[in-house]
Amino acid sequence: MIASKLTQELGIQLPSAEQQLRLNWKNDHGVEVWIKRDDLIHPIISGNKWRKLSQTLFSAAHSPPAKIISFGGGHSNHLHALGFCCQKLNIPLLAVIRGDYSQNMTPMLNDLERWGAQLEWVNKITYAKRTDNTYLEVLRQNHPNSLIIPEGGSQHQALSGVASIVTELTQEFDLIVAPVASGGTMAGLIQATQNSKTRVLGIGVLKGHDYLHELVNQFLPNESKKQLNGQKASTDWQLNSDFHFGGYAKKTPELIAFCEQFEQDNNIPIEPIYSGKLFWGLRQLVESNHFPAGSKILALHTGGLQGKRALPNIMTKRNKHAVD
Ligand SMILES: *Cc1c(COP(=O)(O)O)cnc(C)c1O
Repeated sequence: MIASKLTQELGIQLPSAEQQLRLNWKNDHGVEVWIKRDDLIHPIISGNKWRKLSQTLFSAAHSPPAKIISFGGGHSNHLHALGFCCQKLNIPLLAVIRGDYSQNMTPMLNDLERWGAQLEWVNKITYAKRTDNTYLEVLRQNHPNSLIIPEGGSQHQALSGVASIVTELTQEFDLIVAPVASGGTMAGLIQATQNSKTRVLGIGVLKGHDYLHELVNQFLPNESKKQLNGQKASTDWQLNSDFHFGGYAKKTPELIAFCEQFEQDNNIPIEPIYSGKLFWGLRQLVESNHFPAGSKILALHTGGLQGKRALPNIMTKRNKHAVD
């Protein structure tokens, strides 16, 4: 199946819109913030996950593996996107899940089951082996002719799909900002902007500044890698770790309130795990005069809104004034 046909069959709508945010932030100093609405490219296949999976899925559609195997937590946007695509492509999916959710299925896991995925619960110790060669070799032996996709869909093959975010742009930006978890999206953006004046800033959504640098570095050619001693790479990119709120999926009432206000002000849905932290961090940086006056910034809305379904009602208006 050719790429454009698959894209069409899945209902992927590209290019995604670039939309300017009307800032009501303090001290914006003429900074312009635009959003690339990858959250809108598909109702189920979440934005950056499609970008990262597209090349792999084109190959899989062309010569289907016996099975696809991948990894994630109980709310994984990656597994959600992949599960939907596998069902459409008629390729069996084995989803290796961190933790046993059999007694408290999440909306994401219910969807995976509905789409025919096989769920395998593993404990933290086994899940930690998900990139070990010996573990992967056993998986391969147990599932002949399978295609193993790393957690988050972050792998070398993902980078060219992510690059399409940049090639689609209709204007030049000084900076692209994106949330960072497994690093593939950030690496793809860095590679796609290496010969331009556009810099890339990642907002880490989990703890571990050095760890996140390593994740991004592993996908980059040597000349683009960032040395942790502060030595500059040829491509200018930066990771900020000030806005993870204590770790992955950790959140505070302030962050939740910010997300709600942002949604109201801009009529753009966001969630507190990725895009909420991105825009929170961006606002802090703009208000603290971090960027040169008049900078033109593009924030990548990476989607991930399906994950919001499992959040307690804190994100719904109905519950806003609840007293309990
Ligand atoms: C997975 C995900 C990210 C993180 O992207 P990485 O390539 O893993 O760093 C950001 N936002 C959303 C909504 C995601 O689902």
